[in-house]
Amino acid sequence: MKKTIVKEDYIKFIYKVLERKEKVSVSIIANEFEISYSSVSNMLKKLKELGWINYEPYKSIYLTKKGEKISSKIVSKHRLTEMFLVDVMGFKPTEVHQIAEEIEHINNPAFFNRMRKLIQNPIKDPHGSEIPKCDY
Ligand SMILES: [Zn+2]
Repeated sequence: MKKTIVKEDYIKFIYKVLERKEKVSVSIIANEFEISYSSVSNMLKKLKELGWINYEPYKSIYLTKKGEKISSKIVSKHRLTEMFLVDVMGFKPTEVHQIAEEIEHINNPAFFNRMRKLIQNPIKDPHGSEIPKCDY
């Protein structure tokens, strides 16, 4: 898998944990991605260098403004795609997650703006989660 995609998946997960008002810790990330604590801290260091998160060992992890912007965009693209797949393409809500996991990494504002327009700027995805407002 490409390195950018991996980083985007991490930051997306951090966003979703914070969205649930839970604490982001090394252990919760290690569990989610089924990797060791040391791999998690290596990744967190990289995300910190990029300026996406605030992270000190043994403290909870937060998104910076930049990280918040990047992660909400990925989550938004994911949920918008799921809505599009159900609304326009006739997929069942249970069928759309894996497809959206791939499409969310496409970097093409026109693509997502058109998608959003076609389904009239939805507020929620087919599972009832909020689609963050953002510029693609
Ligand atoms: Zn999904």
